[in-house]
Amino acid sequence: MSYFRKNIDSLQAYVPGEQPPAGAKVIKLNTNENPYPPSPRAMEVLSSLPAEALRRYPDPLARQVRAAASEALGLPADWILAGNGSDEILAMIMRAFVGEGGAVAYPMPTYVLYRTLSEIQNARPVEVPYPEDYQLPLDQLARAGGQVTFVASPNSPSGTSYPLEQLDQLAGKIPGVLAVDEAYVDFAGASALELVRRRDNVIILRTLSKGYSLAGLRLGLALAQPGLLEGLWKVKDSYNLDAATIAVGSAALTDQAWKNANADKVKASRARLAAGLEKLGFKVWPSQSNFLLARPAAGDAERIYRSLKDRGILVRYFKEPRLDDKLRITVGTDQQNQALLAALGQLL
Ligand SMILES: *Cc1c(COP(=O)(O)O)cnc(C)c1O
Repeated sequence: MSYFRKNIDSLQAYVPGEQPPAGAKVIKLNTNENPYPPSPRAMEVLSSLPAEALRRYPDPLARQVRAAASEALGLPADWILAGNGSDEILAMIMRAFVGEGGAVAYPMPTYVLYRTLSEIQNARPVEVPYPEDYQLPLDQLARAGGQVTFVASPNSPSGTSYPLEQLDQLAGKIPGVLAVDEAYVDFAGASALELVRRRDNVIILRTLSKGYSLAGLRLGLALAQPGLLEGLWKVKDSYNLDAATIAVGSAALTDQAWKNANADKVKASRARLAAGLEKLGFKVWPSQSNFLLARPAAGDAERIYRSLKDRGILVRYFKEPRLDDKLRITVGTDQQNQALLAALGQLL
């Protein structure tokens, strides 16, 4: 017999991409980390963190982070809530807006955590298939009637992003809340941030994990009208951000130039990597993020994934419908990307 709720017993736990032990000699292109280091300004704050900052409880309102984000994004601080990674904010959204049996809509394939969180909540995931070209299935999503509708823009694993006008239309058609997950926006041409001024049912999610090279720190942001954040404040753990994250994350947010310069490098490398993959016969989807979805000519993605792993190169392989003949490859430094292309050249 089990002590767990039925939906937890039947839950397929979310499986994050593999994290080899620190110091392992691998080229890691599997979880979309930024290949460049975080801002020196952030590292300076980390190394000089006073003991007093750790002796005391952290600020439950994370005011320093919100002030820095306010300055960086041009949004009032009370339109900003900070989370322990945007993953925590996704969980808070689920807890605050979706009851048992409630509908949660999102297009597929996308970030698998939306499904996992729906199942933990014992909600009803409504999965709308993306067409082959990954255009937004707007009407079907609207008809799904979600209490929350999630759209990752840029989407993972396709890399496609969606114009503000389309997301605006979607927000106007759905009965509930639209959560636009902009985890990869720093590598994209545009953001839907302005939507939060227009719509009282839109939350934009941001993270410092990708653009700011701080996946290990755990800092995400929810951006919305204060009325829509109210319920999130209520379900939030009191001290969801630790003192180090507040101090270091705030410093990183003040260094936009560092983040932008690294994003520019990644975008330039992305174009070179895409060209290299196409030369090897891959079909490569156009990407607005720091990874590429690529299909080898023979569709033997699993074999290639394993062979690369044997050679110390990790890429992401999803054994799932529509993805099991493709690889998701994080854009690394040019040197890493060259090593990948060389290995692919040998094993194809
Ligand atoms: C990486 C990622 C996140 C998670 O970001 P964290 O802030 O590290 O929790 C959220 N959504 C998508 C689509 C992602 O790829």
